[in-house]
Amino acid sequence: MKTSAARSSVPVALADVQVTGGFWAPRVRQIAELVIPHQWDVLNDRIPGAEKSHAVENFRIASGQSHGTFHGMRFQDSDVAKWIEAASYSLHAVRRAETQRAIEEAVDLIAAAQRPDGYVNTFFTIAEPGKRWTDFSHGHELYCAGHLAEAAVAYLEATGSRTLLTVTEKYLAHIESVIGPGEGQVRAYSGHPEIEIALARVYRLTGEEKHLRFLRYLIEERGSQPSFLRKEPTFGYVFKDKWFDLSYHQAQAPIRQQHSAEGHAVRAMYLFASVADLVIETGDQALQRAMDDLWKSVTTARMYVTGGVGSHAHGERLSVDFDLPNHRAYSESCASIGLIFWAHRLLQITPRGSVGDVLERALYNCVLAGISLSGTEYFYSNPLAVAPSEARSREDLKHVATQRQRWFGTACCPTNIARLLASLGSYVYSTNADCAFVHLFVESDAVLRLGDRHVSIRQRTGYPWAESVHLDVNPDRPSDFTLAVRIPTWCYSPTAAVNRTPFRDLRPFVRDGYLFIRRRWTGGETLDIGFSLRAERIAADPRVRADRGRIALQRGPVVYCLEEVDNGENLEDIVLPREAPLQSDHRQDLLGGVVTISGEARRGGSRPANGGLYGPAVASISRTSFTAVPYFAWCNRVPGEMTVWVRES
Ligand SMILES: [Zn+2]
Repeated sequence: MKTSAARSSVPVALADVQVTGGFWAPRVRQIAELVIPHQWDVLNDRIPGAEKSHAVENFRIASGQSHGTFHGMRFQDSDVAKWIEAASYSLHAVRRAETQRAIEEAVDLIAAAQRPDGYVNTFFTIAEPGKRWTDFSHGHELYCAGHLAEAAVAYLEATGSRTLLTVTEKYLAHIESVIGPGEGQVRAYSGHPEIEIALARVYRLTGEEKHLRFLRYLIEERGSQPSFLRKEPTFGYVFKDKWFDLSYHQAQAPIRQQHSAEGHAVRAMYLFASVADLVIETGDQALQRAMDDLWKSVTTARMYVTGGVGSHAHGERLSVDFDLPNHRAYSESCASIGLIFWAHRLLQITPRGSVGDVLERALYNCVLAGISLSGTEYFYSNPLAVAPSEARSREDLKHVATQRQRWFGTACCPTNIARLLASLGSYVYSTNADCAFVHLFVESDAVLRLGDRHVSIRQRTGYPWAESVHLDVNPDRPSDFTLAVRIPTWCYSPTAAVNRTPFRDLRPFVRDGYLFIRRRWTGGETLDIGFSLRAERIAADPRVRADRGRIALQRGPVVYCLEEVDNGENLEDIVLPREAPLQSDHRQDLLGGVVTISGEARRGGSRPANGGLYGPAVASISRTSFTAVPYFAWCNRVPGEMTVWVRES
C-alpha cells in the first residue's frame, strides 16, 4: 500500500490478522458461516417471510439470462456488491467453498450485465434506459458503482481473481470519461457519496493516478454554486422541503467551507471518510482542518452515546447541535458504520485515542445492535428508547421497528454490518516503518510489517468484559521499534508490564491516548495491559434536552439499557439514586454471555392523588432493583420497552 506525507501509519491487511477467540471470533465466524449464506439466500429470494429483494434477479434480467421487470430501489445493485465485499472478507476467516462459488456466480452475473461501453447498473439498464446520468440527487448510479468497485478490491484481495476488477476498471473508465469538468462532460458529482471511498481503494490497489484525480474532482466540485443538483427534477426527492435541500447532499458549500456536519447522515459519513482518504493521499492541510471541524461537529454535539448519528428521521439527517431525542432517534446502522470508516482513516493520519474511542463506541453499541444475536435479523434505525405501543401508532415514529426485521425494502444496513464485522481484523492494528499501533482489543494472531521487518503479535483478551490484554511480541529478528497501545478513556488506572516487569508510572509514556513503548524487541517478549473497567453513570452535556435529569450506564466501551423483560413495564417510572452502588455480574447464561449491571432503584415520583389522568400531586415512591443489559443485545428475548437514559435522583 502506498504511504504518503499525511499518513502516519497504514492499516494491516485483513489477510494478516486472524481473529481467534474472545468476544469477536464467534461473531466473525457467524458472519462467515451463517450470515453470508443467509444473506445470499435473501438476495435470491429464497427466504420465506423476508422482504423481497430481487437484487440477484435484476442482474439476471439485465444480462439477458432471465426475463422480467426490475424490482426494488434504484440502488438495489449495491446490496449484491456489498454482499460480495462482505463474503470476500469472510473468506479470510473461513474459506467456505459454497461462499466462494456464490461469489463467483454473482461476479459472473455482474460481468454479463455490463454493457459494451462499460456501464453496469440494472435499474438504468432495465427500468429506465436512456436516463443514465440524469439523476445525481437520488439515482445512486455513482453510489452503486462505488460499491461495485469496493467489492472488486475485496474480491481480488481474498481470492486473487481480477474478474470483478476488470469489470470495475472498464466501468470507471466509462464514468471518468462521462463525468468531469472537461468540455462535453457532465459536470456533476455523487448525490450519495460512496464512489469516493472506492476510488481511493482502487487507486491504492492499482496506483492509477487518474482515480485520485477523479476523487479530488468529486470532492472539490461538491458544493460549488449555483448547484447543478437544483436543476434536477428529482432534487428535493418527493418532499421538496428544506430537509431535502442542498445540505441533504452536503452540497450547501464547498467542503472546505463546511464547518458543521449537515444533511443525510450516511451520505455525510461516507463523504467525510473519503475526504480523509484525500487528505491521506495529498497531505492537504487546509482540507484536513476543514475535516477536523466536521469531526468535532459530529462527535462533540451531534452523536448519541451509542455512537449513533442522525437524529432526525425525515431526511435521515443530522440535526442541530445537542438535538438528540431518544425515542425519535434515527441513528441508522449504516451511519455508525460510516462513522467507523471515517475514524479508521483519521487514525491512519494521526493516532488519537479520542478517535479510537468513537470508533469503539459506534462498534460495540450502535452497529452491534443492528444485528440480532442469531445473525439473521436487523435494525435499520437504532433509537435509544422504545415504547412499542407508541412506536407502532405514531407517524413520527414510523421508522422505529419494535423488533429486528428479517430484511428491508431498503436493505443497505444488513450487508453493511456484514462487511464491517467480516473485516474487523483490519481495524485492529496499523503500522509504519518504526511503530505498530494497537487500536482495538481483539483476540487475534497477526503478522505486521514494519519497514522490512515482520512482527508477529498474538493478542489474548476477554475485552470488553475482562480487564486485561496480553500481547506476545515476536519480530523476525531483534530490532528497535515502538509498540503504541490505545488506552481508552473509559479504562481507569491503566497498568502495563513488559516481560511481567510493571511500569511504575505510565504517564510519561502516554501521548494522545496511546501508550508508547519503545525498546529493543528480541522475540518472546510479552506486554500486559491492565484496565480497571467499572460500571459507571454517564451524563450528557446539559444542552442535550432529551437527557436532562437522566444518566446512562456504561462499562468499558459498552453502553447499557434497561429492558422491560428484566425490569417490568413503564421503564420511565424507574429512578436510579445517585449514590446507589452499581454491581457488575458476568452472566454466561444470558444473551450469549454478557456482563450485566444491577443495583437498587426506586419506582415512582409524584402521582395524581385522585387516581385520575391528572390531579393534585402526591409522592408515591417504592423501592425496587434494576438490571441493565448491553444495548447491543437488546430485543433478543421478547420485544418490549427499552431505554438507555434512565431518570436519576
Ligand atoms: Zn442502512
